[in-house]
Amino acid sequence: MVDIEGIYREAGALLEGHFLLSSGKHSPYYLQSARVLEDPKRAQLLAQELARLIEESKIGVDTVCSPAIGGLLAGYELARALGVRFIFTERHNGVMTLRRGFEVAPGERVLICEDIITTGGSALEAAREIEDQGGRVVAFAALANRGICRREGGEEPSKEECRLPREKPLFALADFDFPIYDPHDCPLCASGVPPVKPGSRGS
Ligand code: ZN
Repeated sequence: MVDIEGIYREAGALLEGHFLLSSGKHSPYYLQSARVLEDPKRAQLLAQELARLIEESKIGVDTVCSPAIGGLLAGYELARALGVRFIFTERHNGVMTLRRGFEVAPGERVLICEDIITTGGSALEAAREIEDQGGRVVAFAALANRGICRREGGEEPSKEECRLPREKPLFALADFDFPIYDPHDCPLCASGVPPVKPGSRGS
C-alpha cells in the first residue's frame, strides 16, 4: 500500500503548525492539496491508486467529471488511469454548469472526482448538473478525504455536515481527519503561538 500521508507531507501539501481555517476555526494541520499534484509523476501515481480502488469495486464508469478548478488535475489523471474520457463543470453566474460543448449521453455512467472532499458541496453541485443533463452519477472520488463523508472501506459513518448522497460510494486514498478547535478553546492559542491564514481555501 502506498503511504499517502507520507506523499502529501513530502510534497509540502500537508502543513503542520497553527492555522486559521476559512471556517474561522483553528487546526494544527492544513492541506494545501494542489501541491501534491504539481509533480505530474506523483499525480499519476496517486490517480493510479485511486483507479485501482474503483476498478476493484466493479463499478462501471464511462466518464470522469470534475468541478473546476480544484478537481481538474485529479480528475484528468484519474480519467487517464481508468481509460475513460474527462469533462468538467464550472461556475457560471454562481451555478455549476457543463459548458464548452461538453455533453453527456442519456444514462452515461459518470464519476465525480475532486482533489479533496470536505463536505462535498461542489461535488454535489457537479453531480446535479450531470443528472440534469441526462447522465447517471455512479460514484464520487477524491485523492484525499477530510473524514466528514464516509469513504469506501472507512469505519466512521458520514457526519451530518456531509452533503454527498449516502447511497453512492465515495472512493478516496486516505482520511485526513484533523483536530479542529474553536478559537476560544484552542490549545495552540493557549500556548501563545498566533494562528496563520494559509494561502488559499483548501482544508
Ligand atoms: Zn488557535
